[in-house]
Amino acid sequence: MTRKERAKTLAKELPEIYPDAHCELDFGNPLELLVATILSAQCTDVRVNMVTPSLFKRCPSAADYAGIPQEELETIIRSTGFYRNKAKSIRGMGAALVERHDGVVPKTIAELSALPGAGRKTANVVLGNAFGINEGVVVDTHVGRLSLRLGLTKNSDPVKVEQDLMKLFPREQWTDLSHWLIWHGRRRCKARNPDCEGCELRELCPSADQPDRYLKK
Ligand code: SF4
Repeated sequence: MTRKERAKTLAKELPEIYPDAHCELDFGNPLELLVATILSAQCTDVRVNMVTPSLFKRCPSAADYAGIPQEELETIIRSTGFYRNKAKSIRGMGAALVERHDGVVPKTIAELSALPGAGRKTANVVLGNAFGINEGVVVDTHVGRLSLRLGLTKNSDPVKVEQDLMKLFPREQWTDLSHWLIWHGRRRCKARNPDCEGCELRELCPSADQPDRYLKK
């Protein structure tokens, strides 16, 4: 099976396996998703979701993030790790939104990824999940690992992995593709001891029963 054929089969099978796959960060609007995504760096979505209810209540607008004292924000988000840098990014992001965008989250990848604390990955998360715009594929640790194991890429650099995936899958699937792979990575194809025996994709997976075959040492 060629890489293209494998991608075509995955494009059909993954939505059948994970029809309910979605972003697992809780949010009610684009600003909340932007903040939650910044907090999710090096942290689980479950942990972020524990912190955000009180944060979103304290800071309902971009101006609130621009104005909240660093120490107060650090205290609220402490349990997500790297809280000093994250607090700095979120306050800077709030100020940039107020200064450059009238407090409104922009809808382009260039404007979003220029915000403090938000690179291409964060921009793709917000565009895909808050605005329904398929601008790219979010490549996190799960998507990177599964793309290698499933033989969809030979690259480990997230930017190159994203380019490979964008060539293989139709644009309308880009946001969902990352959800499908993340869900499969969390539930079946874990970094250590993946469940190849029970895996729905084992027939087409070149790494079945040898999951480290494609992983760079
Ligand atoms: S067969 Fe194994 S390596 Fe391949 S996708 Fe399934 S769990 Fe992952």
